[in-house]
Amino acid sequence: MTAFKYTGQSKLYGIFGHPIQHSLSPQMHQAAFKDLGLQNLYLPFDVHPKLLKKAVDALIPLGFHGLNITIPHKETVMPFLDQIDREATRIGAVNTIEVRSGRLIGHNTDGKGFITSLNEENVDPAALAVILIGAGGAAKGVAVSLLSAGVSKMTLLVRQVNKGETLGKQLQALSPRSDISVRGMQEKKPPPMGDNRPVLLINATPLGMHEDDPLPFPEEWIKADWVVSDLIYRPHETPLLLSAKNKGAKTVSGMGMLLHQGALSFEIWTGIKPPTKVMHKALLKGLFGPTPTE
Ligand code: NAP
Repeated sequence: MTAFKYTGQSKLYGIFGHPIQHSLSPQMHQAAFKDLGLQNLYLPFDVHPKLLKKAVDALIPLGFHGLNITIPHKETVMPFLDQIDREATRIGAVNTIEVRSGRLIGHNTDGKGFITSLNEENVDPAALAVILIGAGGAAKGVAVSLLSAGVSKMTLLVRQVNKGETLGKQLQALSPRSDISVRGMQEKKPPPMGDNRPVLLINATPLGMHEDDPLPFPEEWIKADWVVSDLIYRPHETPLLLSAKNKGAKTVSGMGMLLHQGALSFEIWTGIKPPTKVMHKALLKGLFGPTPTE
């Protein structure tokens, strides 16, 4: 492995967010560049929403080669770009900017990263009936990619039914043949699945990040043939995933989505398949600190 040296030939990448201190993307991408012997630099930028346009307009003059976009800029950045790809248009949000021939092109790798994390665990979402908890940005990205991946039955489980219905209508318009329904989280009965397919249950709310959070879905409703995924990656194993394990269900943590959305961004920018094992290790180090041998 080469020692890192920033030179005039180094390419510059980064992430815009507000706040940005929590982001693990710099460690993840820098580890990938280092492993590939590329002397590139990936930096975090805390960009205030009022200054977003100025910051985006500076990307080409400053010679950036690619960028990630995180909360709260994923939707508001869109009008400042030259082109938005199909997936990002369907989702209505951008998390990756490609610089191509002096133009800024918006992509969204969040949902595809989630699908890759399922496939890596040998889960084919198209064979499952989906219960998706939440109606925020991550829920929308994941839902759009699940429908693109062939999911034909989806129940949105939401805190505010009117907000869920708005998302349900948008998804139905994108996938008219799919059976999409909306239920309030407060209902005392399990959502009816209507057929014998096993369920893919996904938590796309922050419930589980804090110790005193209630479970987003009752343990007694989970069945052994389900796949249960939590988009939360801190903690690595959430109370929902522990409940699912108790019931004998297969679990998929949010770490895989975080890793693969980054890996897909890296490939868009560089055309190179990134070293995902190295990136995963960098994420674990960022979350839990160095392993005892380091
Ligand atoms: P968001 O846009 O703020 O949406 C959060 C959703 O959760 C909303 O639908 C909200 O309900 C619901 N919610 C919040 N608090 C709740 C509560 N106490 N009870 C019930 N529902 C509640 O956030 P987001 O960007 O979608 O992120 C959601 C989660 O996904 C976060 O934990 C985030 O860390 C995780 N995430 C992970 C990855 C990854 O790479 N693994 C990527 C993105 C996000 P209302 O609609 O009623 O407000």
